Amino acid sequence: MSRPITWKIDYDGIEKNFQEIKDFAVFTVEPPWQKCSGLFANAPKQVFLVQELEQRTLDEYVNSLHEVEYVVGVGGGTAVDAAKYVALKRNLKFITVPTVVSVNAYLTARAAVRNEGIVNYIGDKFPELVVVDLSIIRSAPPRLNRAGVGDVYSTRTALMDWGVARDRLQERYDLDTVGKAEDVLRRLVSSATDIHNVTEAGIKNLVALQADITALQWPYLQRGKKWPEEGTEHVFFYSLEKTTGRAFIHGETVGTGSVVSTYMHGADTGLVIKELDSFGLKFRPADNMISHEEFEKTIHNMKYVANEMKMHFPVLDDYRFTAEDIKELWRLLS
Ligand SMILES: [Zn+2]
Repeated sequence: MSRPITWKIDYDGIEKNFQEIKDFAVFTVEPPWQKCSGLFANAPKQVFLVQELEQRTLDEYVNSLHEVEYVVGVGGGTAVDAAKYVALKRNLKFITVPTVVSVNAYLTARAAVRNEGIVNYIGDKFPELVVVDLSIIRSAPPRLNRAGVGDVYSTRTALMDWGVARDRLQERYDLDTVGKAEDVLRRLVSSATDIHNVTEAGIKNLVALQADITALQWPYLQRGKKWPEEGTEHVFFYSLEKTTGRAFIHGETVGTGSVVSTYMHGADTGLVIKELDSFGLKFRPADNMISHEEFEKTIHNMKYVANEMKMHFPVLDDYRFTAEDIKELWRLLS
């Protein structure tokens, strides 16, 4: 009943992949469009510089797009999600060209569309081709590329959440998926040096791992679940944005959430901190100018935010953060 993912991921870059593609429109942002535009053998029929993902803006794109064969998203999450939405609404072939691997929007079927600022996930539209241009991606800020580990690494704590949901809520638990997800984690950790140094191998491995975890999650997503990634560490991230009213680099603050969630599960926070450091991820509150007061409020708001977003993780139900817990977490993250 669940549909398979059919994208092809090609690592040979823009120049080679776009030799034969002539009839296309590009959705992109600046930078990186300036760096990429000269690599296309044929000029795009239209170029949209995407400013935001508000639905009425996206609908204007849908209406002003000429007849083309392909819609191409060139950039990070914003450019790619705009292209995804337009390709979906116009029922056109869709190609993604990630210029940074900080988020996995270039691989997923859902676009994060905003309605007066409230995010709605609309889909589904997978790209049929993902063009990975290693030299373009490597020219993005290293900090952003390293942030791409956050969602993959979230698997570690999400698997703990899944285990508790199995025990307390009789949630369906699939050993085969768990085994494959654990293998993704092992490969991520063993690639840490390359990811830290943003080498070609590091980028290739990170793309492959983002693809594998996206594919493992897809059957669950179709049933309204998010296993085997995106657990309580994401609740920390959502609570942080809600509590502070600021935007953060997703993968970095999901990493902060990984430490908080590991602590709640009574697991080895030292190991998690060591592994996050091995990727060079900026996950400490000070890296993102998060004050002690904001950190504390964020943690206390987690259960409320999870309820509001209709996410149920039983570990949050009966956990009471004491002043000692907050103090210890702050110490671990300082
Ligand atoms: Zn995420």
